[in-house]
Amino acid sequence: MAIDTHLTGGCFCGAVRFRLEASPLKIGVCHCQACKKLTGGTSWSFALVLADALHVSGEVREVTRMSESGYPVHVGFCPACGTTLASRSDHWAQFRTLSVGAFDETEGLTTSFHIWTKSAYPWEIMPEGARCFERHLPEKAPS
Ligand SMILES: [Zn+2]
Ligand SMILES: [Zn+2]
Repeated sequence: MAIDTHLTGGCFCGAVRFRLEASPLKIGVCHCQACKKLTGGTSWSFALVLADALHVSGEVREVTRMSESGYPVHVGFCPACGTTLASRSDHWAQFRTLSVGAFDETEGLTTSFHIWTKSAYPWEIMPEGARCFERHLPEKAPS
């Protein structure tokens, strides 16, 4: 996924904006119950990025809960409009996951994998050839 442009994005109301200075490492889709709740949607498309490459302006508030993988995840959202923007975990402190739906543009981005497909709604059809995992990614993988 070689993209040199600086990707930008933000929340629904515009109070929070972000800019990425390096391409996302991966784009994943999570179908777990927690991601359904946090987006209010059927799944969460997220971009895995290096924390150092992410610049955020505006207030982001965090909610912490245990992930289905068994460690705490801190989810950041805009306190004004509620858009889910990002998450981080102490487990993978050097990474952030950003909501792909909050990007201004997604041209050139493609999905790398689907996780927690065992919780996917029956009407969610995985793309042919997609890398799918019933639960979390196997060992060590964001790579
Ligand atoms: Zn907002
Ligand atoms: Zn999830």
